[in-house]
Amino acid sequence: MIKRLLYGMFPRRCPICDKCINSNIDICSKCEGKLEFLKEPKCKKCGKPIDAEEKEYCMDCEKSNHLYETGIGAYVYSNEVKQSIYKFKYHNRRDFSEFYGRSIATHFQKEIEYWNADVIIPIPIHRKKLVSRGYNQAELFARELSKWLQIPMDSHLLVRVLNTKPQKELGNNDRSKNLKNAFKLTENVVKYNKVILVDDIYTTGSTIDACSEVLLLGGAKKIYFISLGIGTGI
Ligand SMILES: [Zn+2]
Ligand SMILES: [Zn+2]
Repeated sequence: MIKRLLYGMFPRRCPICDKCINSNIDICSKCEGKLEFLKEPKCKKCGKPIDAEEKEYCMDCEKSNHLYETGIGAYVYSNEVKQSIYKFKYHNRRDFSEFYGRSIATHFQKEIEYWNADVIIPIPIHRKKLVSRGYNQAELFARELSKWLQIPMDSHLLVRVLNTKPQKELGNNDRSKNLKNAFKLTENVVKYNKVILVDDIYTTGSTIDACSEVLLLGGAKKIYFISLGIGTGI
């Protein structure tokens, strides 16, 4: 009843074009084809699309030693997806998380269940950012994934203690430096063995690596990640 009332006041919107749609559909018919899940061939480590099927890793992963096991970048990072994530992140389109969470949990269910993770942890944003933006988009997305995958979410263990510069403004080397000491645990010991980190976009992996490092040092054994979009590597 309450949900219905809310839908009346805030009609459901298409996560791609932002136009109002019926409450019984997720995405408008015009945009359905624009949202594409990433398919093989993908890098076995970071999940970025790669060229030839015989290659296992993208050039980035051939060179770098990521601290996580593997991960899923769900959608082809088209202009439409880019804009949708931008609205979700900066323009208060929190409702998009419902669609993203359900759609990704359903599509990648088998792959994610195979990881056998104990917990889902969203990449935290700094307290100041949380106050100015009003929400952490990664947490909203993680909450929906948690609901559909039936894996608990913990949004308290990992915190961002440094209000770092946006990663997109930096080059590769500066990205890792920028994140050094940016994340901390609120408890001495991580009681989870396998953790899925959740973020909106995966670019070089430096954020996922920085969080993985903290969690692994705290006692976690394996780290995975899920992101909505993933920058094309190679
Ligand atoms: Zn649409
Ligand atoms: Zn890779």
